[in-house]
Amino acid sequence: MSKGVLVDVTRCIGCKACQTACKQWNDMPSSIPEFDNNLGHPAKTNGYTWTTVYHRVVEKDNQDVIRTTKFQCMHCLDPGCVSACFSRAFQRDPKTGAAVYHPHLCVGCRYCMLACPFNVPKYQWDKVFPLVSKCQFCFDPKGKYDRVGHGQAPACVSTCPTQALMFGEREEMLQEAWNRINSNPNYIKHVYGEKEAGGTAWMYISDVPFEELGLRADVTERPIPQYSHEFLKYTPPVIVAWGGLLSAMYFYTKRRKDVAAEKDKGFKA
Ligand code: SF4
Ligand code: SF4
Repeated sequence: MSKGVLVDVTRCIGCKACQTACKQWNDMPSSIPEFDNNLGHPAKTNGYTWTTVYHRVVEKDNQDVIRTTKFQCMHCLDPGCVSACFSRAFQRDPKTGAAVYHPHLCVGCRYCMLACPFNVPKYQWDKVFPLVSKCQFCFDPKGKYDRVGHGQAPACVSTCPTQALMFGEREEMLQEAWNRINSNPNYIKHVYGEKEAGGTAWMYISDVPFEELGLRADVTERPIPQYSHEFLKYTPPVIVAWGGLLSAMYFYTKRRKDVAAEKDKGFKA
């Protein structure tokens, strides 16, 4: 079983309480305001902001309306980041289904960033020893503050004042999504995340097209690991071989220098 969250865009008022709760719970610093045309801040998630709320002006029934949408890691059921990570810094938590980043195992190759179909993992470029950074589904790799694993809703869900976010078993959230869609013709007849990238724990329903909210419309329904496995299975041997080649070059060069130094000594004597 996998936990899930249903995001109902029609109930979101864009207050960003979820964003603030995420920063507080995960002890992340605030950042200098930066706005772009979507009126959100920050415009995208970054190394210190794991969730943000997009603000979009969209056309509906010949009128301009504002829609606001929370975005974070989708916690794919078969995550590309997990399959791409040969050092096992990304793992899927068996209890909750969360795609969790374990910083102490990370070697900084950033394949996870390439493998994610939603462009989620970010890098702390400003740090001397940077880490990858993304929503952990309120999972704590040290186990102390693991909200979801202890049966609690994530901090962002708990704080939402309009119940735009709903947490539970993924299958139940999916059923709830279709119940709402089938009982109200205002909704688009699609649950974003039911099938995208093979299915995700976070799912969205909306009354306007998802791409107009800032969600990617071109994500395949096939799980990303099915594409990447053939290529990525060669990564560890290539890295080992490359490391071996560099070591061999190092020892060859060093040996030549040592020999040259010995010759010099001999000449001076
Ligand atoms: S959205 Fe990206 S980072 Fe999140 S689980 Fe899926 S592949 Fe991994
Ligand atoms: S699930 Fe937790 S870590 Fe993820 S966006 Fe919500 S509060 Fe942040």
